[in-house]
Amino acid sequence: MTTNAPKSIIVIFGATGDLANRKLYPSIYRLYRTGKLSEDFAVVGVARRPLTNDEFQNNVKQSVNHFQDQEVDHDTFASHFHYHPFDVTDIKSYQKLNTLLNTLEDEYHTEGNRIFYLAMAPNFFGTIAANLKSEGLTTTHGWKRLVIEKPFGHDFESAKELNDQLRQAFTEDQIYRIDHYLGKEMVQNIEVIRFANAMFEPLWNNQFISNIQITSSEILGVEDRGRYYESSGALRDMVQNHMLQMMALLAMEPPIKLTTDEIRSEKVKVLRALKPITEDEVDNYFVRGQYDRGIVNGEEVNGYRDSNSVDPSSNTETFVSGKLIINNFRWAGVPFYIRTGKRMKQKSTEIIIQFKDLPMNLYYDKGENIHPNLLVIRIQPDEGVTLHLNAKKGDFGSTSTPIKLNYNNDSKDKMNTPEAYEFLLYDCMRGDSTNFTHWDEVALSWKYVDVISNAWNNKSASQFPNYESGSNGPKDSDALLQKDGFHWWAVSQEE
Ligand code: NAP
Repeated sequence: MTTNAPKSIIVIFGATGDLANRKLYPSIYRLYRTGKLSEDFAVVGVARRPLTNDEFQNNVKQSVNHFQDQEVDHDTFASHFHYHPFDVTDIKSYQKLNTLLNTLEDEYHTEGNRIFYLAMAPNFFGTIAANLKSEGLTTTHGWKRLVIEKPFGHDFESAKELNDQLRQAFTEDQIYRIDHYLGKEMVQNIEVIRFANAMFEPLWNNQFISNIQITSSEILGVEDRGRYYESSGALRDMVQNHMLQMMALLAMEPPIKLTTDEIRSEKVKVLRALKPITEDEVDNYFVRGQYDRGIVNGEEVNGYRDSNSVDPSSNTETFVSGKLIINNFRWAGVPFYIRTGKRMKQKSTEIIIQFKDLPMNLYYDKGENIHPNLLVIRIQPDEGVTLHLNAKKGDFGSTSTPIKLNYNNDSKDKMNTPEAYEFLLYDCMRGDSTNFTHWDEVALSWKYVDVISNAWNNKSASQFPNYESGSNGPKDSDALLQKDGFHWWAVSQEE
């Protein structure tokens, strides 16, 4: 057990919900079993359902019961969990919660350190923060932190309003805005690959890179989340946060130190350097799509408009691709293409860095130009890095053939690869907010994305649905790259 393991109480609002059960309890368990948490921690679950402590602890045990460890007793682990049911809009209940926290602080020696994790619908975020402050729960002799799930607003104005509400009760450095992509092992690896390898950083610019492609595709459709998705769409659900965050990590300058402020300030500079586009120009840079029926895994599946709680003439996009231009010395002239969608051919998140062609071609592969060098960073489901090179073909001619150097992160044994939420919870407990989004990043991302959503809101998508389920998205998405002389590289699934 680590002696300097962080001590705190974690109050989870939305303790009976999907996120808490599927992600948060297993992540806390993994921190516990790897000794990252001392015995000095407690979790208080808040939701309306009238569960007893025993019932709550049983739910927690169920959500972690796929971990079979000889040395960790699930009952001992679950005994750290306490349930306190109330409606978060009922201000009177907060006093009782405070009394419970004070008692548990003595019992678990958590030194007044409190994490308030809002795993609930975003319309409650402002109310909870205000009530925590007015009822004195933020007046503690230890530190206090607020963890906020996505979505953080649905445009710049609503995000600002939410932020202003939160800032009444918490300072910026006490607010931890989750972007769970930043907790992924291979997203965190982008910085290490770039800044710890002498062979990449000198080439990481517009002299040697021709374009960068970031794809995040899913096979699943909206399933039973139609109601949520209708008010969101792929642009708000994926581009404003995850895709722009990955772009910022790929494009940022090396920070002078690996501190939170230095890294965030470099990311902010990239977002500030994004070439703004006007509503009239959106069609030149972005493509929207909505899935139709199709065949997935040999089975016929329905279109987005046939899904539950979806308007049969919905304009909501389930696919976005776009070309981002970063106007700075390093990246001028290098397009960053992004692509994200549901019901696509493969489930995969990956980044492809395409290097420029050599000035002269001495070797040909079957009469064709040689394959460009690609660096592929595979983020999920399999994690790793692949470098595409050219090598001699095993015959007598002057021909080359593409080869791959492959590194697979330990993805076979998921037990040993920390989950995104595990990283993020641990970072929050230690007060490291590097992998959470600062308000400046959120604000700049929304301002960029708002132009696109306004343009799309003002013009109905007459061509919807425009891609078949199980495909790579609409044809216009291919055309977006073709007009620059590029094409999407097929998403790889490495062994
Ligand atoms: P969910 O399954 O609908 O859970 C909502 C939780 O809030 C439940 O525990 C519910 O419990 C509680 N709740 C609702 N109204 C309440 C009230 N007035 N007072 C007290 N408790 C109340 O939602 P979720 O999927 O876990 O998502 C939670 C948040 O995480 C959302 O912001 C979502 O966007 C975000 N998120 C979720 C995921 C995911 O994988 N699920 C991924 C990324 C982000 P009772 O009904 O018992 O009150």
